[in-house]
Amino acid sequence: MSQPLPNQDKMEKLVSLCRRRGFIFPSSEIYGGLSSCWDYGSLGVELKRNIKQAWWQAIVQQRGDFVGLDTSILMHPQVWEASGHLKGFSDPMVDCKECQQRWRTDELEGEVCPSCGGELTEPRQFNLMFKTFMGPVEDDASIVYLRPETAQGIFVNFQNVVNTTRKKLPFGIAQIGKSFRNEITTGNFIFRSREFEQMEIEYFVKPGTDEEWFEYWLKERMDWYIGLGIKKENLELRKHDRGELAHYARECFDINYNFPMGWSELEGIANRGDFDLVQHAEHSGKGLSYLDEETNEHIVPYIIEPSAGVDRSVLAFLCEAYDEEPDKDEIRTVLHLHPSLAPYKAAVLPLSKKEPLIQIADEIHAELRRCWMVSYDLAQSIGRRYRRQDEIGTPYCITIDFQSLEDKQVTIRERDSMKQLRIPISELNNTLAAKLGGEAFEILPPGGSHWLGF
Ligand code: ATP
Repeated sequence: MSQPLPNQDKMEKLVSLCRRRGFIFPSSEIYGGLSSCWDYGSLGVELKRNIKQAWWQAIVQQRGDFVGLDTSILMHPQVWEASGHLKGFSDPMVDCKECQQRWRTDELEGEVCPSCGGELTEPRQFNLMFKTFMGPVEDDASIVYLRPETAQGIFVNFQNVVNTTRKKLPFGIAQIGKSFRNEITTGNFIFRSREFEQMEIEYFVKPGTDEEWFEYWLKERMDWYIGLGIKKENLELRKHDRGELAHYARECFDINYNFPMGWSELEGIANRGDFDLVQHAEHSGKGLSYLDEETNEHIVPYIIEPSAGVDRSVLAFLCEAYDEEPDKDEIRTVLHLHPSLAPYKAAVLPLSKKEPLIQIADEIHAELRRCWMVSYDLAQSIGRRYRRQDEIGTPYCITIDFQSLEDKQVTIRERDSMKQLRIPISELNNTLAAKLGGEAFEILPPGGSHWLGF
């Protein structure tokens, strides 16, 4: 692998690649863009879906102790009173008296405006929730908020889930969805935006076992990122000190990633205690508890919350994957994305536009598409086509050449090692499934042979 790129360069190159290849565009670009809002293009939407899918599989599908949920973005305004967001969900901020720019106090290094050096106002609290009106009349009684986290939808449905699923403690509820925060300072590409997606876990446990489960989830969540290709040395756990804890939290750690702009939060893991269920029970007048069948007692579970950002995960996985490698006299740009995250799992590349080859290529493409997202590229030299697939992280390229007409075999090339195998077309599906599942590239299927590059 090549030398690491300087950080500023890396971010600029990544933003440019995302724009050029259709991962991410500025929102409403033809009108000049809308600050801190982003649109995911054809490749970005696949990457994002794959991240969410990997998370959902690991949490809801593969464990026995979880159920999923999908709650509405607009909720009863009392939810935000009970949760403390109306009062407490704010950032202290200051305005510059000269240029009027607004800054978060915790992000300032000096005492003057970072932009023009002007004098700053005293800090004031600024609520981060977006307000809107429900129904035709725009008055105080019709104010509703766009949710600033998905978690509250889980808490207010706690009793519904317990009653309908009969889950026993400890158990979890998982949700993926959009959240909105009127952030004062945004930036660093998709790192901090005003509309973003979260993947949230609320794990309900017996009080007294919460500290143990908190430790468990710290490890579990770190391992999830590592399993999908993030290097251990690019992750760290940072403990919040007392003064920094959110109003609901007994304890909190951030999982930080070594982003090009420095170590920053990827996921927050909090021990919320019984704060949310108690608050909602009090404000709604509805009991929110769990009947422990062993002791016949009603208990209010404690909650461990690992809360991850989808967009920040997209950025972290892209940063981790981006590489520029010397290759002969050129530089090869590669996204070393984990196969399960890569937008396309394979690309079908016929060596010539001549009919007999195209027919085989089309058949192979149609067959593989039944199982995976598979790209097809006919344009320009095979070398260029490999480069284009490397740059978007496609793990395998399948080349059909004139010999394929004779021997019914194709060449399969691995993105990271650039090694190639020659394998029977009849073995393609199984081979691709095995390699995508982690089988070493060198292991040959029946009838397969080594080809170039070994
Ligand atoms: P920060 O301190 O960076 O503003 P936070 O501590 O307020 O983040 P949490 O409330 O813990 O964030 O939200 C959980 C996760 O949701 C974060 O770890 C992050 O991945 C994601 N997230 C929060 N705010 C944003 C945002 N404005 N843009 C993108 N993702 C966000």
